[in-house]
Amino acid sequence: MISLGIEGTAWNLSVGVVTEKEILLIESDPYIPEKGGIHPREAAQHHSDRIGPLIKRVFLKLREKNLYPSDVDVISFSQGPGMGPCLRVVATAARVLALKLKKPLVGVNHCLAHVEVGRWVCKVKNPVTLYVSGGNSQIIARRGNYRVFGETLDIGIGNAIDKLARYMGLKHPGGPKIEELAKSGSKYYELPYVVKGMDFSFSGLVTAAKRLYDSGIRINDVAFSFQETAFAMLTEVTERALAYLDLNDVLIAGGVGANSRLREMLSIMCEDRGAKFYSPPKELLGDNGAMIAYTGLLMYKHGYETKIEDSAVKPDFRIEEVEVNWD
Ligand code: AMP
Ligand code: MG
Repeated sequence: MISLGIEGTAWNLSVGVVTEKEILLIESDPYIPEKGGIHPREAAQHHSDRIGPLIKRVFLKLREKNLYPSDVDVISFSQGPGMGPCLRVVATAARVLALKLKKPLVGVNHCLAHVEVGRWVCKVKNPVTLYVSGGNSQIIARRGNYRVFGETLDIGIGNAIDKLARYMGLKHPGGPKIEELAKSGSKYYELPYVVKGMDFSFSGLVTAAKRLYDSGIRINDVAFSFQETAFAMLTEVTERALAYLDLNDVLIAGGVGANSRLREMLSIMCEDRGAKFYSPPKELLGDNGAMIAYTGLLMYKHGYETKIEDSAVKPDFRIEEVEVNWD
């Protein structure tokens, strides 16, 4: 079976095509803000300008593989969570494709897709997933359905990094730039380490790091201190989830998962406990169409289909709301 999936909850407009066995292609057309952060309406305008050409490109590439639009069995789309205006563009495109090609439609939870694509490509059955992206930071594991065992109380870690980066004059997205700067940081300045139970928060940390920067501390040391603090918080809670749930595998998901220092901290923690650390390849860590296509296919094969009248977007869609009937 072949599933075509459309992702576009925030910055990355991306279409993926997968079978049960492999990813056939991922084609993306990301929105990169001129200045400042992601503006929902600007991002949605970008998505709506580009979605038509992007889908055309996907079908051209499929033709090179001797596959045609009618060979697609399922149309999947990211139904939420995400920015409302962006989600609506994606849902509209998915509905049009499903109606035009007379194929079933499957609305996919974006967070679920990050977890499922990671489980698939890493061949890991029951991990604790640390999902760290722009808008989200959650620790997720299966207990029947998926449950969130810890999460940010305010902003996502990616958003926190991007805010600090912007303040220090770096262009969006700030993650890779902060990572580079932190590599030449050497002095640690104490910053607020905020873990409350299994939850954590980042906005106080961002404010304090901005103050450090204002006080004339070297930008490399600000980046370094910020990363050390934020990533230690995430690693601590991930470890507690492993212990509490008695699990032995950690899966990383989300764009911030590309960060080598975060990966190092998680790997060390896992090694200390005799647990294993898994990561999908970089192109599947951040938002991408293949994760939506794969999860849509998985759901379709387990009896899920989204009727057009039920395909309204869900900007606050939680992973716990998805009834999971697969292994
Ligand atoms: P996502 O929303 O999952 O696509 O992830 C996007 C977020 O990942 C943005 O906030 C980026 O700044 C962040 N990001 C990307 N690469 C890195 C990196 N190497 N280190 C830290 N954050 C990163
Ligand atoms: Mg994401």
